[in-house]
Amino acid sequence: MGITVCIEAMQERNGFVHTKSLLKRLLRIGDIVIENAEIEASNNNEDMLIIKVRPLSRNRQRCPKCGKRCQGYDSTHKLRRWRSLDFGSYRVYIEAFAPRIECPEHGVLVAKVPWARHDSDYTYDFETAVTWLTLHTTAQDVAEYFRIKWHTVGSIAQRVQKSLEDEQESRFDNLVKIGIDETSYKKGHKYMTVIVNHETGHLIWAKKGHGKEILSDFFNILTPEQRANIKFVTADGARWIAECVKDFCPNAERCIDPFHVVAWANDSLDEVRKQAVRKAKNEAAEGKTVERTKKKTIPSFRNMLY
Ligand SMILES: [Zn+2]
Repeated sequence: MGITVCIEAMQERNGFVHTKSLLKRLLRIGDIVIENAEIEASNNNEDMLIIKVRPLSRNRQRCPKCGKRCQGYDSTHKLRRWRSLDFGSYRVYIEAFAPRIECPEHGVLVAKVPWARHDSDYTYDFETAVTWLTLHTTAQDVAEYFRIKWHTVGSIAQRVQKSLEDEQESRFDNLVKIGIDETSYKKGHKYMTVIVNHETGHLIWAKKGHGKEILSDFFNILTPEQRANIKFVTADGARWIAECVKDFCPNAERCIDPFHVVAWANDSLDEVRKQAVRKAKNEAAEGKTVERTKKKTIPSFRNMLY
């Protein structure tokens, strides 16, 4: 049986941050009120930090599926815990009441909470971290690192994937300025096409391969209204990108991104430098006295900028 030690809240004075404010910032969850925090020893002698919270009143009694405010279904206040990202070696749990609501459309459900997906015992941040690491290492390693069961890794990744798919339509709404690029992986042997939304800075689409066919797959997902909404497209000078943009977004303005402009300028300066070296060598061979041309006499355009 665990022991419980209450963390006293510090007074906000002399520049110290109030403990509750600090916890709220560390959790990165808006729309909640921190009520208290306790350190609790688990049966296997691992300390856990239990943070007791409640949603702001405007976020209570909402349906987890449609988000609408609904009537409460029962008055039983059942406490529930959600695992959050660890603070150092401490496992962190968010604890709150989990009342049920009755949605006219979706029936009786546990009310939505601002920190976790419906039917999940893990916070958004925890599930995002698990899913990200799953893309880079084995499920066994992820399970050990996060101290969760092996099969939990799979169910979290599936839940995040489904959530992303459900959000797909809104991800492509209101696109105005997008960036298209291709990036290599597997030491430059394979390529991937990526699309970003310049206004949010978010990656919105990616697919293995490159070329007009791959890029067309992206534009084909969009509705005609979503394509018409795109006004600016940044990319390098590849002809297949220009053709694709012209076909699908004829009214969008194509912009060359600064990275490629700098790269092209650098390449041009390199060519001028090579010509100067060749000319100097030829003149030397003809017996003319020339000053040796060093590579550094024409500085890199990139170096001049940064
Ligand atoms: Zn509903």
